[in-house]
Amino acid sequence: MEYRTLGKSGLKVSRLCLGTLTMGPLQAHLSLEDGERVIRAALDEGINFIETAALYDTYHYIQRGIAGRSHEVVIASRSYDYTYEGMKNSVATALRELKRDYIDIFMLHEQESRLTLKGHAEALAYLADAKEQGLIRAVGVSTHVVEVVDACAEHPLIDVVQPIVNYAGLGIKGGTLEDMLLAMRRARAQGIGVYAMKPLGGGNLLPNFSTAWKFILSLDCLDSIAVGMKTPAEVKANVKIAAGKPIPAELEAAIRADKKKLHIADWCLGCGRCQAKCAEGALYFAGGKMHVDPKRCLLCGYCAAVCPEFCIKVV
Ligand code: SF4
Ligand code: SF4
Repeated sequence: MEYRTLGKSGLKVSRLCLGTLTMGPLQAHLSLEDGERVIRAALDEGINFIETAALYDTYHYIQRGIAGRSHEVVIASRSYDYTYEGMKNSVATALRELKRDYIDIFMLHEQESRLTLKGHAEALAYLADAKEQGLIRAVGVSTHVVEVVDACAEHPLIDVVQPIVNYAGLGIKGGTLEDMLLAMRRARAQGIGVYAMKPLGGGNLLPNFSTAWKFILSLDCLDSIAVGMKTPAEVKANVKIAAGKPIPAELEAAIRADKKKLHIADWCLGCGRCQAKCAEGALYFAGGKMHVDPKRCLLCGYCAAVCPEFCIKVV
């Protein structure tokens, strides 16, 4: 496993970062034991970077998976909080549930514009105080939007940015793939640590996964690449792929075929909360219930988290 320094945060992270959304209740909803197995397999393969979010509800998996090896691991978490107190509570919850004295990187989740970043000034002020107190080690932002990456590069409090990037440009907002790559390079030149989300387009690029990996591994402006995983076999395969090594043909075929989709149950009430949450415009209302356009859906599962009727699942 190759390790790189995540910009001015100084954190040494593996080239591959274990994304935990896939194992949690918004997606595969693994048992605690199975989630623990995935995390331990990742650590055994040399992955030392794990990402989560308040929304994902996966702290309990991580806490079990890193027990006894917590000192080896860099954890990034995120929250949508925009107030000082809200962010303080989110960091406190992460510390308590992960049973740690500090979180390596705490991030503003999914920033949509320069303005929303400004609107999160209080939350950022708390993260700066938490860093001063040693409760977190770095402040970060995750985003799909080109101008937010640029805003992060100019922001004195931000150490790490996590943009969406993949060869097809899926999910990138406010510019093209080229624009995003330029913004990432500008951020890196300012000392910001940059790590990618959704290199496989939330599963949409799995049929072309060799192209997707070749592209993401070729980028000189990335320190690490976050990929959601949910089985020890998947961990092993991804570690090999990220190291540029071949994987068995049957495993490659299984990965290509592992296409997920969003399922919306018939008991949907049409309340529209999921649609308001989807930044991709992938949900539409017809015939009394919500439907998904699979071409736009990135399978992030964020809509599922707000459905009061538990109608939405990634299957
Ligand atoms: S939030 Fe749930 S109940 Fe409301 S429209 Fe979406 S799927 Fe239907
Ligand atoms: S429909 Fe749901 S899972 Fe798909 S992109 Fe929108 S919020 Fe994410």
